[in-house]
Amino acid sequence: MVDEIEVFRRFIRRRGMRYTPERETIILEIFSRHDHFDVDELYLRLHRQGVRVSKASIYRTLPLLIEAGLITEVFFEDGHMHYEHTFGHEQHCHLRCTECRRVIEFFDASLEKLEDRLVRDYDFQISGYSLEVFGLCPQCREQRRAATE
Ligand SMILES: [Zn+2]
Ligand SMILES: [Zn+2]
Repeated sequence: MVDEIEVFRRFIRRRGMRYTPERETIILEIFSRHDHFDVDELYLRLHRQGVRVSKASIYRTLPLLIEAGLITEVFFEDGHMHYEHTFGHEQHCHLRCTECRRVIEFFDASLEKLEDRLVRDYDFQISGYSLEVFGLCPQCREQRRAATE
């Protein structure tokens, strides 16, 4: 049994909801690799594999996965939300290229120290954080340089 499926099953049972194989397919696809996706991308990935899932049911499933602690909203771009799976994946932050929209994940130990300090200084119980850094990736800077030469 895959862990994330078990987590979801338990969540569904607690809620007294019905467990559907369709939702399981959506979860398995999300956890098949780690990336940042939106509903359209997930829909296309499933359809390319011949899975018939409606966008509406993806829209209905994602909030449940967030509540179950399996995925999280990462950023809002082009008028819609992007998600990633967090269960089994280390807490990290994002560098986002404003030109090609590449997303680079990074982790820095100093963030843990900052977390400790915030807990100490503000007596705050931290459940998570997100840090987004915007800018230009090396490739886009190179392209800009080439264009102005
Ligand atoms: Zn770029
Ligand atoms: Zn990420």
